Amino acid sequence: MSIYNVKSNGNGYHFHKHDEDLNPENVYDTSLKECTCPGGRRPTCRHRQMLPVFQHLGRVNTGWMYDFENESWYYLDQEKGLVPENRVKGWWRRA
Ligand SMILES: [Zn+2]
Repeated sequence: MSIYNVKSNGNGYHFHKHDEDLNPENVYDTSLKECTCPGGRRPTCRHRQMLPVFQHLGRVNTGWMYDFENESWYYLDQEKGLVPENRVKGWWRRA
């Protein structure tokens, strides 16, 4: 499983890819049109598909992480680790 979060620093959007133990694997620069991943030359890729979802939900630059293969969201809690979205309490859902 690959799990992603997205950071934006005024210089575009960056997908950070991790394995299931949250070890960092790669960083891709992604826009709606382009991506630096190995599939970047194809018409689309998973990162370009995920970017609008992260933007729409306001989850760029947050603790939210997405498991693309299983279509599941997790919140990265400093103490508990990855918390499945349905176990995240309302007040920090948009944190
Ligand atoms: Zn990509």
